[in-house]
Amino acid sequence: MEFTQLPHPSPTPADVREQAIADPGFGTVFTDHMISIDYEEERGWHNAVIGPREPIALDPATSVLHYAQEIFEGLKAYKHPDGNLGLFRPEANARRFNISADRMAMPHLPEDVFVQSVRELVRKDADWFPTVEGGSLYLRPFMFASEAFLGVRPAKKYKYLVIASPAGNYFKSGVPAVSIWVSRDYVRAAPGGTGAAKTGGNYAASLVPQAEAIAKGHDQVVFLDAVERKWIEELGGMNLFFVMDDGTVITPPLTGTILPGITRNSLIQLLKEQGLTIREERYSIDQWRADAESGKLVETMACGTAAVVTPVGKVEGPDGAFTIGSGGPGQLTQKLRETLVGIQRGTVPDPHGWVSTI
Ligand code: PMP
Repeated sequence: MEFTQLPHPSPTPADVREQAIADPGFGTVFTDHMISIDYEEERGWHNAVIGPREPIALDPATSVLHYAQEIFEGLKAYKHPDGNLGLFRPEANARRFNISADRMAMPHLPEDVFVQSVRELVRKDADWFPTVEGGSLYLRPFMFASEAFLGVRPAKKYKYLVIASPAGNYFKSGVPAVSIWVSRDYVRAAPGGTGAAKTGGNYAASLVPQAEAIAKGHDQVVFLDAVERKWIEELGGMNLFFVMDDGTVITPPLTGTILPGITRNSLIQLLKEQGLTIREERYSIDQWRADAESGKLVETMACGTAAVVTPVGKVEGPDGAFTIGSGGPGQLTQKLRETLVGIQRGTVPDPHGWVSTI
């Protein structure tokens, strides 16, 4: 697709940008440009533009503001030792974007256009790459119903945008184990619902239980299934893996209520290659506790784009708290984290061809 390049009337002055990228934290600093493509039922995708990042004016009746017809993706560009920027499995994000689109009754964006749009923005705003060690450029492609119409039906107009945000080092000093709160009162997704789609409503629904986790002194919330309230699903923004002392690793199956994480999929491949037995099957909160207490369970890992692979150290469930292993990062967690971070940053070989440089 041909992107029209619009001039930027007032790019951020270099000294302000340099200060902003010295250690930007997460999600509050944005680059100068954005990608925008429009969709109309009769015309398909058109008007592909790379121009200044700026506010968008919306009619108060714009469909997304009322019925939340919206999807998004999250991926990162990393800096390699040779100075090149690389993307990690952007085609997988493109595919998941269209799977989300199907569930939300939205049009597909061709996967090559998705990947191209992300690459174009990274190229354009490469000088926004953070200077802090371990930094990355977070990319947020998203699509929303832009038709002004109050009837409840799929919109006939959509907007696809990509914005970029320099991100600091998630963990500045080592990898701390996170503490998890098991939500009893709230579920994230039900069978037949939208749990497997990356759509804003799922995250809106997770805010109260996440706030509850923080109020109880934990870092993250873990959700149980909506039917029996016993099977472990995922965290608000990460998938889970349970490591047993015999080398078996269990991860909840993709039954439609959890997000099919790209980190999850990559870890499954790495684990298989290391000769470990990986079982995608249901694992209950009671079993988690019993296995942690008996020592059968040696590690629990949480994984996702934000923090790659993170150890879970403590859990507070309906029957009280328990500790995983020593409560700190386990061996397999650390090893997998080093491998995956190394592949992403171009410091260890990438036999799967997961990384493509810009
Ligand atoms: N589950 C949820 C609910 C998420 O938001 C994310 C982050 N995208 C993940 C899991 C992990 O997915 P990924 O590895 O693709 O980042």
